[in-house]
Amino acid sequence: MLTREQIIEALTLASDVGCHTRAGYAALDGWVESDVSFADIADCILNGASLACRATGLSMPEYEEWIAYSGRIRCCGTTRGKKRCKLTVASSKRYVDPRAWLEASKAGGYCEIHGG
Ligand SMILES: [Zn+2]
Repeated sequence: MLTREQIIEALTLASDVGCHTRAGYAALDGWVESDVSFADIADCILNGASLACRATGLSMPEYEEWIAYSGRIRCCGTTRGKKRCKLTVASSKRYVDPRAWLEASKAGGYCEIHGG
């Protein structure tokens, strides 16, 4: 297995001859691409990190929730079964930008049933 440094060195050599590295991942409005660092690529190869998470700045659970809720904010309420409510915050807009979604998600909110 290559080391992190060897992977970065190989990618640097590829870049020196004109190769470009971009990550492709699912987003709200389809497939998008963005630049990623050689270090991120090495981490994905060696540690199973997600390029989508690296590109969006979200953890995997956050990324999955952002996609599953189409960029809307999930209610912070708890059901009678002691599980997190699956509805969206009553006033939630659709956040296409994952970092803006994360900020709004951390601020929280409630659906109409839980007082939103
Ligand atoms: Zn709720």
